[in-house]
Amino acid sequence: MTGYFSSPFPRRTSVGVSVGGVSVGGGAPVVVQSMTNTDTADIDQTVAQVAALHRAGSEIVRITVDRDESAAAVPRIHERLLRLGIDVPLVGDFHYIGHKLLADHPACAEALAKYRINPGNVGFKDKKDRQFAAIVEMAIRHDKPVRIGVNWGSLDQELLTRLMDQNQAQGSPLTAQEVTREAIVQSAILSAEMAEEIGLGRDKIILSAKVSGVQDLIAVYTELATRCDHALHLGLTEAGMGTKGIVASSAAMGILLQQGIGDTIRISLTPEPNGDRTREVQVSQELLQTMGFRQFVPIVAACPGCGRTTSTVFQELAQGIQADIRKNMPVWREKYPGVENLKVAVMGCIVNGPGESKHADIGISLPGTGETPTAPVFIDGKKAATLRGPSIAQDFEKMVADYIEQRYGHGKAAAE
Ligand code: SF4
Repeated sequence: MTGYFSSPFPRRTSVGVSVGGVSVGGGAPVVVQSMTNTDTADIDQTVAQVAALHRAGSEIVRITVDRDESAAAVPRIHERLLRLGIDVPLVGDFHYIGHKLLADHPACAEALAKYRINPGNVGFKDKKDRQFAAIVEMAIRHDKPVRIGVNWGSLDQELLTRLMDQNQAQGSPLTAQEVTREAIVQSAILSAEMAEEIGLGRDKIILSAKVSGVQDLIAVYTELATRCDHALHLGLTEAGMGTKGIVASSAAMGILLQQGIGDTIRISLTPEPNGDRTREVQVSQELLQTMGFRQFVPIVAACPGCGRTTSTVFQELAQGIQADIRKNMPVWREKYPGVENLKVAVMGCIVNGPGESKHADIGISLPGTGETPTAPVFIDGKKAATLRGPSIAQDFEKMVADYIEQRYGHGKAAAE
């Protein structure tokens, strides 16, 4: 029996691009990136948010560069981050006047690891090509890659109108949605060809083509992937808030990633007012990790609970362990190499508890309603202890910490 359990799609072959030392495409693991929502001219706020995003696991961080004050702030932000020991590549997001800002602020052009250009927003009519070329020439001069980021909210209207007119002249025209998708793909590819004609290397170009509809995103990227071999940045634009944004982004990107399409991802979540910006990093990591493409943090398997779990003990323990892991990961990553592969199980009762716990590295099966108030703990598939009494949660958390120290810390040599 063959084929049933093998991965159906290999990774699409793309030209690798180095973004400030982080490899994107060319077979490298899919990179997680994010974007700040601070005013870049506010150096303190921007440094704090870039640092938080990086500590949460963002491997590249994009910042808005929209005016002289923000362009002037970029090198200072970069220096401050380096002084904090944070050497994360910064990407400048330019619209309309990027060519001018980069020319007027060479220290900004140098501090950034990549420039993002939106071909629909670089200028109009005869200025469009000239200003696009000016940014590309700046990238060549500073030896930086660019992301040519098409967004259907700011799609090149001249190109769209031309394709719409051509379509109308055909005997059996395509729908407006199909022509728009084609215009998005063409905008990205034609812009990349123009950048190459100007002299930018293929290993300096990343493409994206963001739309806000799940089916549109899948269609556009599937087409883009077959028509070029540039590294691709995936993202559903205007994904929305909360569960809607997470589900829509995961559905669209999950399907593309499963087909081997996508070299770097960003989940564009709208945060709650004063919400935590690092949520988008967490969701990106969980998407890649749950699909089995990368490991970032230990997995906590928890059952959903049911009528057998009438107390909140098990939800609190699962939540506590998850929060504890997230909080400690920045330190654990350095102190315990390989800890991201750990699997913890927190189960609500005897039905699936012992079985699931045995599959984990360390797992606990809490007592369900009516069961004896004891909680067996399984380590490496074997029952290692039975916890009881009011301190079950604390006792289990300590056992997890001890297990990590023994397996991934200095004691691991004795254990392995
Ligand atoms: S393991 Fe027990 S508590 Fe959890 S969902 Fe299954 S039956 Fe319910």
